[in-house]
Amino acid sequence: MARAAAQGGAVALLCLGIDNLALVNESLGHAAGDALLAAIAARLRPCIGEHDTVARLGDNEFLAVLGRVGGSADVAPRCRAIFAALAPAFALEQQQLHAHASIGVALYPQDGGDSATLTRYADLALSRARADGGGQCQFFSAEMNQRTLERIGMEAALRLAIAGDELQLLYQPLADLQTGDLCSLEALVRWQHPQQGLLSANRFIPVAEEAGLTAALGLWVLRRACRDLRAWRDAERPAVPVAINISPRQFHDPGLADSVAAALAEHGLAAGALTLEITEAALLRDGAAASVCLERLRALGVGLTLDDFGTGSSSLSNLKRFPFDAVKIDSAFIRDVASDSGDAALSKTIISMAHNLGIKVVAEGVETEAQCDFLRRNMCDQIQGYLFAPPLPCAELDVLLREPRRLPAHLLRIQRQKRSLLLVDDEQNIVAALKRLLRRDDYQIYTANSGQEGLDLLAQHAVDVIVSDQRMPGMIGADFLRKAKQLYPETIRIMLSGYTELQSVTDAVNEGAIYKFLTKPWEDELLRGHIAEAFRMKEIADDNERLNLEVRTANHELASTNRRMEELLKQKQQQIHRDEISLSIARELLQHLPLPVIGMDDGGMIAFINGAAAALFHGGGALLGNEASCVLPELFPADGAAPHDGAGHNSHLHQADIGGLRYAVMVYPMGESSASRGSLITLSRCEVAP
Ligand code: C2E
Ligand code: MG
Ligand code: MG
Repeated sequence: MARAAAQGGAVALLCLGIDNLALVNESLGHAAGDALLAAIAARLRPCIGEHDTVARLGDNEFLAVLGRVGGSADVAPRCRAIFAALAPAFALEQQQLHAHASIGVALYPQDGGDSATLTRYADLALSRARADGGGQCQFFSAEMNQRTLERIGMEAALRLAIAGDELQLLYQPLADLQTGDLCSLEALVRWQHPQQGLLSANRFIPVAEEAGLTAALGLWVLRRACRDLRAWRDAERPAVPVAINISPRQFHDPGLADSVAAALAEHGLAAGALTLEITEAALLRDGAAASVCLERLRALGVGLTLDDFGTGSSSLSNLKRFPFDAVKIDSAFIRDVASDSGDAALSKTIISMAHNLGIKVVAEGVETEAQCDFLRRNMCDQIQGYLFAPPLPCAELDVLLREPRRLPAHLLRIQRQKRSLLLVDDEQNIVAALKRLLRRDDYQIYTANSGQEGLDLLAQHAVDVIVSDQRMPGMIGADFLRKAKQLYPETIRIMLSGYTELQSVTDAVNEGAIYKFLTKPWEDELLRGHIAEAFRMKEIADDNERLNLEVRTANHELASTNRRMEELLKQKQQQIHRDEISLSIARELLQHLPLPVIGMDDGGMIAFINGAAAALFHGGGALLGNEASCVLPELFPADGAAPHDGAGHNSHLHQADIGGLRYAVMVYPMGESSASRGSLITLSRCEVAP
């Protein structure tokens, strides 16, 4: 650097990372890893000039100092040369291996004036090169440093915020589509940052994860939610459950179940008051481990929801395999659910699959009535989103809990509405004439002057029957009705046209997009009759649909009962298994006790005899299953104080001679903590008087 300063040149520091070294070490062993490093070093040597130095710093990183460069323009070709030298495969352990390298570059004097800063910056640039996919060279920039400094500052501030109780929880209400009532709350964390204002979770949770603060943050959220729940219960607000979000790292923390149990106990809450939301990402890493974590949480009795469904692997098998009560369809699929047939189909599939498994479905990010209407018609169970309520601070939520908000009746799952008709024609006067004609029939009439306008109206309102012209600018009637069929297959679609371009109309008829084709000019009464008949058709279809809905609702309830039964059964079986284990432990314990022990059932039969007793009575094998008073008369004194007297509840003691020795015979009636009515006899040697 001194030479460059004197002569006016620059020095470049290259940090070269071998990104797949760990993989080579793991798969082929460390000797192969070392051999790869040595082979890389050999290939680097020719790339290094007389003013340069190259060294391996450790692990998977090399450092090169290019002593004489004019500026960054000179460095890029040198990096290309290094990549070119490393590109051909290496032959190791009879395998052809490629080295995946990335390079970060920092320059003296423009980036930094001392070696420590330059090394740090080159390293930072290398991290960026790797984050961008690797296999490339990245120059340090001041903005990179700025971002890192911000991040470090944010980490420190977050650490203080968690410790100093500066976070907040907002609660977003969810609505039930069957009843319209507020049915649960989701806790969403916020941070009041001293400079940056109120930060949403997405801004700082990644920072928390990187800084190792996941557990502390998670614990804070858990305890705060339990504290708030307690306060609402004490104030006798409606007992709606609260859901908290569990990050993937927190989910894999083995202490999670214990923390949850402790927080519930501390605030005197039943487990059912809490639901944990787990994202698909948390299940990806290790399915078997995830199963164990979920079972442990399930055993506590808390609710389990699969969050953000659709953004991860979106595997429907996750629903089947893991014990979730509910699944949340991610808002990305809800945004266009009322207008995009792909999103619509996906949501419908998730709903019907989940229902078959007895799992409830929640739609996230519901902002419009059109989205809600789609979800209601397709049997979604609950909605969350600004349409019903935004995330609220405790004080505002309290108002809502006191005066419960409900979804309006027309957005509920099962309902009967006024018959509604959509008229689409580009000629205003035709629309007006039709409207006049149909006024007597008490329909809710919507009108549109183009196909696009018609689609917009369909997205906002539930429509039973559509009457459309064919020849319209922009979108012809056949195409409009085809789209309407795709998005709202339950509508009855009629074409009313004076113009017959046969091909597109017959195609539309054959595809089922058109129910009837009527010609202009029309005869008033005939047209009214056709439209009335279309409504009758629609009503029959609606009745069928309603029945179908009711059957499906019943089936869903059945499936969820089955699911709960299966879980109970599983828990019971686990209990039985545990009982069996403790039983055999107890048996083994008795078996090895140095004291002779004999067990009798309620009929006076010998049911158990331990090792010491068997030794005392010479084998004892013949004793099992026999009446005790016959085979062990020594234990039954003539005075009638028999060990087994059926009704006796107190233990008693007497003495007996066995094999010439005196024994104290202790008889304990059973039944205190078991259903047995037998008794247990122990024998101990009496002290012999000298
Ligand atoms: P999420 O669990 O899917 O939460 C729903 C997000 O959607 C929330 O964002 C909520 O404010 C937002 N949202 C609600 N209604 C609407 C709507 O109608 N339209 C739109 N576009 N968005 C709506 P938020 O609060 O920013 O949280 C984002 C994510 O951060 C959450 O997604 C969750 O994964 C995570 N998160 C939030 N709080 C916590 C927490 O306490 N712990 C952990 N580990 N993660 C949290
Ligand atoms: Mg969530
Ligand atoms: Mg979500």
